[in-house]
Formats: sequence, structure tokens, C-alpha cells
Amino acid sequence: MKLYSTNNPNHIVSLREAVLHSLPPDNGLYVPQQYPALDPAIIENITDYSFRELANIIATQYLREEVPEEIIQEIVYDAINFPAPVINIDDKISILELFHGPTLAFKDFGARFMARLMNHFWSTENKKLNILVATSGDTGGAVAAGFYGLDSIEVTILYPKGKVSRLQESQLTTWGSNIHALEIEGDFDDCQKLVKQAFLDLDLNKHLHLSSANSINIARLIPQSFYYFEAYKQLKKDTPVAFCIPSGNFGNLTAGLIAQRMGLPISHMIAATNINDVFPNYLKTGEYKPTAAIPTLSNAMDIGHPSNFSRIQHMYGSTWNDIKKDISGYSYTDQQTINQILNKHKNNGYVLDPHTAIGVLAAEQYLNSTNTGHQVVVLSTAHPIKFQSEIQAEIDFKIPYPASVHRFLDLESHKTPMSATFQDFKNFLLSKSS
Ligand SMILES: *Cc1c(COP(=O)(O)O)cnc(C)c1O
Repeated sequence: MKLYSTNNPNHIVSLREAVLHSLPPDNGLYVPQQYPALDPAIIENITDYSFRELANIIATQYLREEVPEEIIQEIVYDAINFPAPVINIDDKISILELFHGPTLAFKDFGARFMARLMNHFWSTENKKLNILVATSGDTGGAVAAGFYGLDSIEVTILYPKGKVSRLQESQLTTWGSNIHALEIEGDFDDCQKLVKQAFLDLDLNKHLHLSSANSINIARLIPQSFYYFEAYKQLKKDTPVAFCIPSGNFGNLTAGLIAQRMGLPISHMIAATNINDVFPNYLKTGEYKPTAAIPTLSNAMDIGHPSNFSRIQHMYGSTWNDIKKDISGYSYTDQQTINQILNKHKNNGYVLDPHTAIGVLAAEQYLNSTNTGHQVVVLSTAHPIKFQSEIQAEIDFKIPYPASVHRFLDLESHKTPMSATFQDFKNFLLSKSS
């Protein structure tokens, strides 16, 4: 598998290089030269395969030139060690629950796979690899859990002070060892900017081997395509299947487009956002206008400048008309989000987290606006307990508490407060390397 930069088709690299470097030096994003097509017989007989078998078949398409087959299987089977069940909440809408991993959000899929793949690719080096990750809440915890305890990899997590939930913060700060948590005086976009700047800083890159674990890394996107196949498998195949994705940086949605290019018959994609609606606005107007992020209840989607936008544009040769034919977009306020959580609990007995609530709103709006017999699968991106502190005051029932979260809340936290100034961040990284 060869990849190239969205800014320069002649900048071609191996998967190893794309995974370890994360970003091309020209500030573009790595994309595969080709999306490998799955054998149509596999899609036809998809119910014959377990989730792990499907994941292994897909991963092999990307990895086989650079990773021995038994190691691919080891990475996949180790990373995909929890299920992704589809739950029907009514006759048109199903929920794909992606929150059964260790940090209760879909990012466990990407992070666990990426950690194992990077560890394999780095195993030939005898230096430290420094992973930088900006998080709006969930990524950091998943990445920390994925990389914790690996001795050749250090992880530095940047998160916006006061903008993540209590449980999210404890999933970032209670690790210690090779995991460092920086509490940044700023918003998520500031954190993301610091990481981008670090990659472009020549001096820093002379001293450190930097890599990223954000959804800009292609190793996050590959495993996120697995569960689109798994969801399709669990549904009846005789209706067209559309997917609805609560979106922030649009990594999850991009992974769906990748699954589609690999041959999965996805009839339509629906992007659901909170009031940070840069992408739905782009679909409406054809103009892409990144802005500052506005804080909301669905904080993992508080993104004003989605980092995978240029990948999506690139997949469509920047043709707005084609993009809006394949993807619809809708956005919702916090009040609509809360009303939806209350409504679905009361009428369907299902507890949605704020992100998934926005997804179900968008699925309903899409179904109301079209007259086709689509089945819509809403990706449930997080377990509602992750946002208990934000929504408990607004709802009239208790969110069920999974046993695994106590572990985080009871541990001691280790965090370093920091300004959003690049020099401070750089000094921190350099001080760790000496
Ligand atoms: C990260 C995240 C999202 C947004 O996913 P993207 O791939 O960045 O679009 C949505 N919901 C939750 C709970 C998340 O953690």
C-alpha cells in the first residue's frame, strides 16, 4: 500500500512512513493511492464471517505488503476484542453501539489498532517515539489506554481546560508511566494547532521523533472502516443501508466513505453535527468556512475546522455537487439534543449520549425528507455515562453505570497545566527528551 499527500501526488510513501509520521511535510494529509476493493463474494456472503475475520480481511488489504500475515492477524484480533452490536430502536433506525471498548467510545477501535501497528513498525528502532495527541475529550483516553505501558513510545495528550467531562478527564490523567496529560488554557482548536505546529518545527523534529494519534493518522481510519461492514452484516441485506455519523473531525465519516470505496453498498451518508456546523453549511452553500469552535454538550464534536475535510474533498476531486449527492448534513442545538435524549428514553427505552442523540435526530430528519425505504444505521459514538455530569441535571432518569468506569474515577490524577503558547509546549517536549 502506497500513500501520497493531498497537497502533492508525487510525494509517495509506504504505510509505515505514513503511520509513523502521521502528516506529510507539506501540511497535507496522507491518502491511499487506491482504495483496495474487497472480493464481492465476501460482501455477498458477509454473514459467514465473524467481526474479527472481516476486520482481518480488510486490514490485510492495506498491510500485507509491509506486515507478515500472522502479525496482521495478531494486531487485529488483539485490537478488536469487544463487539459492535446493532440495536434496532424502531423499524427504520438502528444504533451501531461502538462504545463497548475500554474507554467507552468508538475511538477505542482506532486507538487500539494504531497503537499495535505503530509498535510493530517502531520495533526495529531503539529510540523513543513521541506521540502527540490533541483531544476534545474522547481521543486522548482511548489513545492513552491503547499505548499505556509500551516502553518505546511516549504519549503527550493536550486537552482544553474545563471543556472535558470529569470521567473523560480521569481517563486522560490517571495513567502516569509513558502517558503525559497537558491541561491547555484554550479550546480544542488551540490544542490541535499546537500539535500541528510541533510537526512543522524543524528544531523540535531534529531532537525528537514525533508522531500523531489524531484522526489525521491513516492508522485510525483503517480500523474505523471495519464496523461499517460489521453493521451491514447484522442488518437484513434487502433494504438500502444509509449510515448517519455524529461528526467533529470527520474521521469516522471518512472511514465510512472508505468502506464504500472498498465495495460496501452504502446507499447514503448523513453527517450530524451540533451547532459547530461548518460541514452542513458547506453542503448547503458550497463554501467552506472554518470558524472558532463553540462549546456544546456534545463536546467531542466542538470542532470549527474539521481535520479530515480535505480528505473528503480529495476523495471527490473537490466536486461539491458529487459530495452533496452522497452526503447530507444536519445540525442541532443543545436543547434539541436534551429533548431527544428525554424523548428516546421515554418512548423507546433507549438511553442516548448527546452525540448519538444528534445522530438520531439527523437520521429522523433525513428519513422525513426522503421517501425511500432506507434503513439508517446511526453510529453510537459513546456510552451515555461519559457525559453524565453534563446532562444529569437536565434529565429525569438515571443513566446506568457500567462497572468499568469506577476504575478511572478512583485513581490519582497526574496533569500538567500549560498555556496555549507554542514555546511553552516546545519547552515541555524538549525537557522530556533530555
Ligand atoms: C470523536 C467523537 C466524535 C467525532 O468523531 P470524528 O471522527 O472526529 O468526526 C463524535 N462523538 C464522540 C463521542 C467522539 O468521541
